[in-house]
Amino acid sequence: MAGGVRLVILGRQGAGKGTQCLRLARHYAVPHVSAGDMLRAMHKSGSELSRRLAKFMRAGELVPDDVVIAVVAHRLDQDDIIHEGFILEGFPRTAAQAEGLSELLAPEDIDLCIDLEVSAEVVLARLSKRRVCQDCSTIYSVDRPPRIDWSCNVCGGDVVQREDDTELAICRRLELYAQETEPLIAWYLARDKLVVVSGSGSPDTVTTRLVRAVNHRRAPRRKAES
Ligand code: AMP
Repeated sequence: MAGGVRLVILGRQGAGKGTQCLRLARHYAVPHVSAGDMLRAMHKSGSELSRRLAKFMRAGELVPDDVVIAVVAHRLDQDDIIHEGFILEGFPRTAAQAEGLSELLAPEDIDLCIDLEVSAEVVLARLSKRRVCQDCSTIYSVDRPPRIDWSCNVCGGDVVQREDDTELAICRRLELYAQETEPLIAWYLARDKLVVVSGSGSPDTVTTRLVRAVNHRRAPRRKAES
């Protein structure tokens, strides 16, 4: 096992965060925590709150901070996360959420925040082609479909286009990323936690770059601990 890490992955929608977070979670043997997946799972409960959240999500709007912070706080309090670490995707997305995460983890902190950088043109093209397994969230593209009739290669679930991968909602999500989430890059840089990694190239190339960046940053800390 490559050993527990606590990572936050930032990056525009379509930068490849979902694919890369699954790979990093496997590599470091730590849980993958996706705020979007947890919010989508709440839809299935059919509660009044989940119907309210679905409206925000379909339109590409951000769900209120207090709701997301509570959902993530609940997950981070579970034993596997406490003992093993996490790969956190889609959270934080606002300054209030970054402060919230810092408070949740205090007196400790994340090891590293990675900004997975891909140009706006590339993410627009990727998002319109993206297809996702409804059950296990494995990501495909119309250029790389599952082997059999839009059934997931991993679990056999239906592979579909996400409700919020419409042109209008994609534009709104990218706009909100620029307004609310991009400032967190400076926030983590000021705390000496930021590494920028290019998300262009094949998935394997990007994973190699990410692992190298994480291991490079962890090495001095390990030396200091020994
Ligand atoms: P994602 O799967 O990360 O693209 O998230 C899908 C949608 O879930 C977003 O467009 C938001 O509506 C909502 N969402 C996910 N994470 C957050 C967050 N940290 N803060 C607010 N809304 C979120």
